[in-house]
Amino acid sequence: MTLRLTHTAKTYPDGTKALLPTDLSVERGEIVSLLGPSGCGKTTLLRIIAGLETPDAGSDIWFDDDNVTALPVERRQVGMVFQSYALFPNMSVRANIGYGLKMQKLSKPEIEARVTEVLEMCQLQPFAGRAITALSGGQRQRVALARAIAPRPRLLLLDEPLSALDASLREALRDELAVLLREFDITAIFVTHDQDEAMAIADRVAVMSQGRVVQSGTPEDLYRNPNSAFVAGFVGNAMALRGRADGTALHLDGGVLSLPSDGGGQTVFVRAEDVRINDDGPLHGKVETVTFLGTHYRINLSGVTSNLLASIHAGQEAPEVGETVKLSIKPEALMLLPNETGGA
Ligand code: ADP
Ligand code: MG
Repeated sequence: MTLRLTHTAKTYPDGTKALLPTDLSVERGEIVSLLGPSGCGKTTLLRIIAGLETPDAGSDIWFDDDNVTALPVERRQVGMVFQSYALFPNMSVRANIGYGLKMQKLSKPEIEARVTEVLEMCQLQPFAGRAITALSGGQRQRVALARAIAPRPRLLLLDEPLSALDASLREALRDELAVLLREFDITAIFVTHDQDEAMAIADRVAVMSQGRVVQSGTPEDLYRNPNSAFVAGFVGNAMALRGRADGTALHLDGGVLSLPSDGGGQTVFVRAEDVRINDDGPLHGKVETVTFLGTHYRINLSGVTSNLLASIHAGQEAPEVGETVKLSIKPEALMLLPNETGGA
């Protein structure tokens, strides 16, 4: 189904404006991620869509051509997966997945068939008879997903479903979830504060800050064409090159850099992979730290600009801490964004 929110906002009884008036559309079968730091309103927005939270007057929520704004949660046909899986610990995997179907009063054979189908999809057949307490975190997460999908919801909502897992498992499950969601062929909204997760899972990412969606686009769009310093920093950790712009020349502590266009009124950003250690470079900086990361080194440099500048260095060897190195940055790698007036 298609989801459409118009002018949707939430002010909590204590006056907190958790969500400012927001418009958001999600196409049929599209997987959209809401990405933003803790407290920016992601869960509030998701709960409004689910019907767990009443939005402010003037908000409208559409599922296809149905205005569901006043429809209670149990009639919206949404599937939900949370960080805390909220599974019934002493019931079997099968019973957990079948629970919602039993509530829907489906026939026993129908329940059996549907449960078997999602067990297979989520590769849970070997664990069907086990109690939840006898499963690993990753397996529990898959059961939660299977349970949410079994009643064939119109929309699937996931709120940081991977954040309770440890790092290595999280990465494996992230890729698995990206595949599964597409197999389900369902419209889904995936909330996360982790940019890698959002980029790996979503067709489109809506970046949120302080109760607003500040930019929405494909992962590539957001990465290459951020519309604000906030998005540049949050998606791909762009770093500010603070200096004095004089037309297309940016004067930094570590030398002069050519800009692709006039730098007046703009802040210049660059990403670590575009800062190259290069003997012919126009900039110089001092190596502060060198971290070996297998496929590359991450090198922090001082003296280029006021903050430390990171460089991803793919060579076989890295310079030593304390060494002064020359650096280059291609003009096309620079992102010029309007100066921010206070805030994030
Ligand atoms: P996120 O999921 O992005 O971390 P939330 O939607 O949970 O953000 O919260 C957004 C803002 O609303 C935060 O400032 C939070 O403290 C506040 N908030 C959340 N729930 C309530 C509530 N029930 N009452 C008052 N304020 C709330
Ligand atoms: Mg949240």
